[in-house]
Amino acid sequence: MTTYKNLIAGEWVESATGETFANHNPATGDLLGHFPSATVEDTQRAIAVANEALSGWANTPPPSRAVILDKASKIIDRRGDEFAKALTQEEGKTYAEARGEVNRARDIFAYAAGEGWRMGGQTLPSNIPGELLYTRREPLGVVALVTPWNFPIAIPAWKMAPALIYGNTVVFKPASLSPHIGLLLVEALVEAGIPAGVLNFVTGSGRSVGNTLVGSKDVDGVSFTGSYSVGMGIYAQAMKNLTRVQLEMGGKNPTVVLKDAEIAQAVALTVAGGFGVTGQACTATSRVIVEESVADKFAAALADAARNLRVGNGLESGVQMGPAVDQGQLETDLEYIRIAQKEGAMLLAGGSRATDDGYFVQPTVFDGVDVSMRIAQEEVFGPVVGIIRARDFDDALEKANAIEFGLSATVVTNNLQRAFQFANRIDAGVVKINESSSGLALQAPFGGFKHSSANTFKEQGPAAIEFYTRTKTVYVGHG
Ligand code: NAP
Ligand code: MG
Repeated sequence: MTTYKNLIAGEWVESATGETFANHNPATGDLLGHFPSATVEDTQRAIAVANEALSGWANTPPPSRAVILDKASKIIDRRGDEFAKALTQEEGKTYAEARGEVNRARDIFAYAAGEGWRMGGQTLPSNIPGELLYTRREPLGVVALVTPWNFPIAIPAWKMAPALIYGNTVVFKPASLSPHIGLLLVEALVEAGIPAGVLNFVTGSGRSVGNTLVGSKDVDGVSFTGSYSVGMGIYAQAMKNLTRVQLEMGGKNPTVVLKDAEIAQAVALTVAGGFGVTGQACTATSRVIVEESVADKFAAALADAARNLRVGNGLESGVQMGPAVDQGQLETDLEYIRIAQKEGAMLLAGGSRATDDGYFVQPTVFDGVDVSMRIAQEEVFGPVVGIIRARDFDDALEKANAIEFGLSATVVTNNLQRAFQFANRIDAGVVKINESSSGLALQAPFGGFKHSSANTFKEQGPAAIEFYTRTKTVYVGHG
């Protein structure tokens, strides 16, 4: 059984106490390995090391930084199969889903490498003769990346790649439920030649590692993706040092089905959004808001599709949906199913564990969900979809917006006017038309509204530079 290590100052090290935690496979229960339970002191050392490495990396020309990121992208590509298997083993999603996620990480590094050749500032017109007025982008400094278990390579990649290309040094804390794929990503950067101290990898609990990172005055930025409750605590703590914070949190994303929609397409998009990656996506569909006149037909077809999905170990061929990530998430899923039934929602499909062992839940569909129910308001983070019936388009929009979250939303319709009205009036940071609520383009800005985000900085694509750099304005009187 392998005991893995952390990366601090370019060396693979144990925690100060030598303590470790176990990593398990949610489909089989197998023990996969042990990871260091880093202490507060270990974390502080990683922060100190990142500060020491900062000026060297910040002053490395961006095109030279790009060479390393480009190499990392190629290494991820070369090791793609191994990475995807490791991801499926520790997190549970199917091999196809894991492979897609690994490929995405590969592409994110390629994209970021290109940024090294492009980034620049602004030159502004001056009102003083003989003055040059320009802005200069500098790295933010030391950034802490605190990430969730559900996209355990894509999310670290979409934070780490821009952090590094724009000249920041990094302390990366992966989620404790899926640290292995994070370590493999770090290995790729090490093999690509990232200098010692520029990228540090520290595993351990949110309480010790996460908390230390977020509360440190020697950390200049915290980029966090995870739950609303943890994110709120992070925001309050980081504010004490005026640390720049980016938070991407939960969702309760609607798929809105209008009466002109093709039902087969609406069902396929709901299955992809609701049951893809076992519903464990921040952009997963968990509410389907359907115009009354087509609701019966849609509900029957969705329930059928849910019953026909093949649930099992993500490494077996033909499996379409993997397990919940752990016992806790399995219990949460089953608890919300009980809550929905108690609230009076009607169970159309699923509703139970799929097997006696492994953390498998049946794809579950409820009808007759009301916006006031907990099942319509709270993030489950599992394969549970609730149908909410709407009188008409305006009622559907109102119901879609009757929620604290605002991450992603999609509408299924062939009515062009309605589609654009939806895009304009929905309160969500990502809007889809005739596409699944989940799935994002790495080259486009991403971030939620309302309680899905701190509403400070977007992530990904051309937006990432805003969080990972600070801008200086320079006035040059040369007249
Ligand atoms: P989580 O429990 O909030 O954990 C996220 C990360 O924060 C983990 O690395 C966790 O460490 C760490 N953490 C926990 N307590 C902390 C503390 N007090 N201080 C600092 N860090 C702390 O979330 P999760 O269960 O891993 O992920 C699921 C959630 O993520 C869902 O709510 C989902 O919607 C959200 N999510 C959002 C997006 C988005 O972009 N909007 C994308 C994916 C997921 P440990 O693992 O050691 O506890
Ligand atoms: Mg957690």
